Amino acid sequence: MSNFALPPCPTPCENGVLVPLSDFGGHGASVLYKAWVCTDPDCGYNIKIRNGEIHLNEEIHQGRISRDR
Ligand SMILES: [Zn+2]
Repeated sequence: MSNFALPPCPTPCENGVLVPLSDFGGHGASVLYKAWVCTDPDCGYNIKIRNGEIHLNEEIHQGRISRDR
């Protein structure tokens, strides 16, 4: 197990914690920890940072088999 402490989910879900996700910016530069999502799939709480703004609990897309073009 890691000693790295992940922040607990702010919603009263069972045992979710927020995990950081990285992304790539529009110019190919990596953006570390751009989004944080709850590990509980039934919760779906998420925080995204986009253009310096924080977006809370946006709709997330998961479980898609095919990608939109
Ligand atoms: Zn949660």
